[in-house]
Amino acid sequence: MPAALLLLLLVASCAASPGPSQWTVAEEVRPEFFFAEDVAVEVRSAMTSTLDAGIEAWGNFGPIEYWVVGKDVPAAESLAQRYCDRRISRGDMTAQECTADVRRRHEMRDWAARAAEIEVTGQPFLEAGWNGGFEWGLHQFSSSLPPGWAGLAEVRIEDDQTVLLHEYFHAVQQSHVTTLDWEERQRLMGPVWFVEGAAEYMAQRTGEALRLRGRLPTDPRFPGEPWRARDRMAQKMRSGLAMRAERPGLALGEIEYGPEGQIAYDLGAWAIAWLCHRAGPDVLIQRFYPRVEALGWSRAFEEAFGLDPAAFYAEFDLFLELGREQQLAVLASRG
Ligand SMILES: [Zn+2]
Repeated sequence: MPAALLLLLLVASCAASPGPSQWTVAEEVRPEFFFAEDVAVEVRSAMTSTLDAGIEAWGNFGPIEYWVVGKDVPAAESLAQRYCDRRISRGDMTAQECTADVRRRHEMRDWAARAAEIEVTGQPFLEAGWNGGFEWGLHQFSSSLPPGWAGLAEVRIEDDQTVLLHEYFHAVQQSHVTTLDWEERQRLMGPVWFVEGAAEYMAQRTGEALRLRGRLPTDPRFPGEPWRARDRMAQKMRSGLAMRAERPGLALGEIEYGPEGQIAYDLGAWAIAWLCHRAGPDVLIQRFYPRVEALGWSRAFEEAFGLDPAAFYAEFDLFLELGREQQLAVLASRG
């Protein structure tokens, strides 16, 4: 399934320097998109309107810069130059610093080359990430060409919508923490399964709700084949359990980004579904995140969900042993 091949990256900027923190406040600033010049207008409007829908659902956490590469390598290089021009004009970096930071330039070029290959190989490719930016008072995102909106490789636009909402939820999470200390931010955000599971589950659930309300479109190329979060979640349970079975003794709370990271995405989405079933669908936004910086991750967890992390891990292990229908019932009965 294409969704399983979509690779989400949380690309972390480790540079920490004193800077403004007004980005931590929900505000009226409009998100800014920066598209490579070969990105079609339909893709641009789909991305913009999907982010608008996410902002309506969860609140406006900005300022946001969203950098989108196409499939033309020279256009990607121009976009990388625009990126540097912006950093320099805002005083975020010197020209020398941005020139020396080759990672982003290489990434944009690589993403364009790989997007161009989709038409040849038929293999879907999408990478997207929240890239930090808090030291400059903003949230930065980057994305390769979303294949569904670009009409490539039979990827559905619902999957592209989910990826964009997933990334935006990282801004929602990060906006509730004001410290500029990188390690302290990581501690407050919690384990990988919690960060990624929350982004993925909220993207799945909110995306589906926005489509059911007619706020987001469904993919007209797949009539009679409704995209269902329930199906995607069932797939995550299958793949997460299969990967975990190959690693006996691996604890959910210890999984980092890397080879085992996909387990944290898949089972983390289910862990958040379980927690939302227990404590209410809006518990993350209304109870957990507003308290996390004051209480710390573990105490905010206990306050929001009504059990401490150790008790949660024990109960969730039992949940993973249940039959699939009992597990899926957690999704069906959510508020
Ligand atoms: Zn993520």
